[in-house]
Amino acid sequence: MLKGKVAVVTGSTSGIGLGIAKVLAAQGADIVLNGLGYASEIEAIRSGIERDHGVRAVHDGADMLKGAAVRGLVAAAVENFGRVDILVNNAGIQFTAPVEEFPADKWDAILAINLSSSFHGIAAALPQMKRQGWGRIINVASAHGLVGSTHKAAYVAAKHGLVGLTKVVGLEAAGTGITVNAVCPGWVRTPLVEKQIADIAALKRISQQDAAMDLLGEKQPSRSFVAPEQVGGTVAFLCSPMADQITGTAIAVDGGWTAQ
Ligand code: NAD
Repeated sequence: MLKGKVAVVTGSTSGIGLGIAKVLAAQGADIVLNGLGYASEIEAIRSGIERDHGVRAVHDGADMLKGAAVRGLVAAAVENFGRVDILVNNAGIQFTAPVEEFPADKWDAILAINLSSSFHGIAAALPQMKRQGWGRIINVASAHGLVGSTHKAAYVAAKHGLVGLTKVVGLEAAGTGITVNAVCPGWVRTPLVEKQIADIAALKRISQQDAAMDLLGEKQPSRSFVAPEQVGGTVAFLCSPMADQITGTAIAVDGGWTAQ
């Protein structure tokens, strides 16, 4: 269904981004992977996607902390493939602390990676998508783009900002063949969340398994983690013709978290 299309997925060497990249590749899209990690592990991911799905996959290590690097990621994709059809702004980090103790450098890094990188990527990709007359921009926000939680000032601010950015660009691009949406996952068991599970286990002196149930029990009524591929499935739907009229919105994939 996405054969001939090129998808750039930021932060796709792990977790949700990798799940999204695999689902888009399974639909036939060529993939630009991005993210940190060991070269050998990244190469295994890249070659695995090519082998499993018969598409082209490249990895670009652009640092999402830096606006110029994000713009360079999009420019390199266009140079390499001659086009960019799908941009998934997914790279993200987390840090938790009460606001009065929140380190300023962590605030700056979270805002840069979780919010500003999307601005730069969108600004770089939109002109090319407009020339092509079609495009899909999907911002991976969070349930924390819709509701708050304690100790996550930077993350919640960045994700709410990302939902706001989604609305504005959705409006600006309306009628051009380009849609812009946010996907808002609840808990997905990735390295980003493993750290929070480990923190709960240490704090409450309970097992990792009990800590994981604790985490789910507090927020996610389904009591099950969302799978990365399920976020990927929502992204694939947004890339399908059935979603042509969905733009500027935020879709929760959160086991009921934000229905409460
Ligand atoms: P993860 O830690 O598994 O993956 C994060 C990815 O971002 C990795 O590929 C990492 O290399 C990349 N990355 C981090 N810093 C980078 C940088 N400076 N430059 C380039 N790449 C960088 O985390 P995840 O849980 O898969 O998170 C992916 C996105 O989903 C994030 O935006 C996160 O906020 C969001 N999210 C996660 C959950 C969850 O429960 N895991 C829930 C809602 C939203």
